[in-house]
Amino acid sequence: MKSLVKAKREKGIWLQDTPEPEVGHNDLLIKIRKTAICGTDMHIYNWDEWSQQTIPVPMVVGHEYVGEVVGMGQEVRGFEIGDRVSGEGHITCGHCRNCRAGRRHLCRNTTGVGVNRPGAFAEYLVIPAFNAFKIPDNISDELASIFDPFGNAVHTALSFDLVGEDVLITGAGPIGAMAAAVARHVGARHVVITDINPYRLELAKKMGATRTVDVSKEDLKDVMAEIGMSEGFDVGLEMSGVPSAFRDMLDKMNNGGKVAMLGIPPSDVAIDWNQVIFKGLVVKGIYGREMFETWYKMASLLQSGLDLSPVITHQFDIDDFQKGFDQMGSGESGKVILNW
Ligand code: NAD
Ligand code: ZN
Repeated sequence: MKSLVKAKREKGIWLQDTPEPEVGHNDLLIKIRKTAICGTDMHIYNWDEWSQQTIPVPMVVGHEYVGEVVGMGQEVRGFEIGDRVSGEGHITCGHCRNCRAGRRHLCRNTTGVGVNRPGAFAEYLVIPAFNAFKIPDNISDELASIFDPFGNAVHTALSFDLVGEDVLITGAGPIGAMAAAVARHVGARHVVITDINPYRLELAKKMGATRTVDVSKEDLKDVMAEIGMSEGFDVGLEMSGVPSAFRDMLDKMNNGGKVAMLGIPPSDVAIDWNQVIFKGLVVKGIYGREMFETWYKMASLLQSGLDLSPVITHQFDIDDFQKGFDQMGSGESGKVILNW
């Protein structure tokens, strides 16, 4: 089958012919229709330090996708041939304390589709049926293919009550932009989002941010005064992984504020802990999506009118995959989709 393979220990990704994956007793065989490029795929493409230590070579990568069930193992129940599915990319052990308590997103033994095991940038993908999520008919293939990063946005944004609250999002990448859309949709008042990339700030505005802030040009403190915020933000969603953005966020939170952290910093980050202590801040780390409450919420948010369509800015045929990776690398994109 045709697949995008991390075939060499150097920058790049290669379109190759690989064997179709084998279907285990509890697995689904999915014929891939659309995939999306994640920031993680860009790390793997660029072959940074993290990838060098993590990714087995050669391996098919990719974990954002939608496809159709074309085969299944003999133990699988609850799916039919022809079902349209996306899937949770974190494969959990099922045996550890958190798994057994139904907190699969906290599994200690998580492995990643397209990171630790073969991924979705291929004509066919095999995953445990447990990880598959049926896509309701009224949700498009385009949106279904980005459920994985949409789930990061939803998991983070819905960590704390946003109704009537003032929300600060640092980082207007695809996930930050989607989180802005979710925050507005569920009833936040001010949804202020920061970045240093004008293209992305424009995108976040289209998605529903009430104020965008280019922190290379404007001071958040001045923006807060301009929009009449005299105290501080109630909820912070850190979605940049940039230490200075996180420090700025802590400084701008109101007492009793709540911060959900999705962005992955490059290394250790020093912060002013007095901000956390004397303000009584709650800081929560976010990894992946809740299984499968986040998935349920994603479908119902879209069905209740959440408009995510502006975040999909580019689509390419799989033979033009290089254009897709170049577009993502340029920073001038939201989600980039590859059609199989
Ligand atoms: P992204 O890299 O596309 O977005 C990050 C954005 O932050 C970029 O637009 C960048 O211009 C912006 N930025 C740079 N400097 C900034 C500054 N000083 N202030 C504000 N913004 C600044 O990433 P993404 O795909 O949208 O993902 C967001 C973050 O979440 C990344 O750090 C990613 O690694 C992380 N992530 C975490 C998980 C998890 O499970 N915890 C899952 C997916 C992604
Ligand atoms: Zn587990």
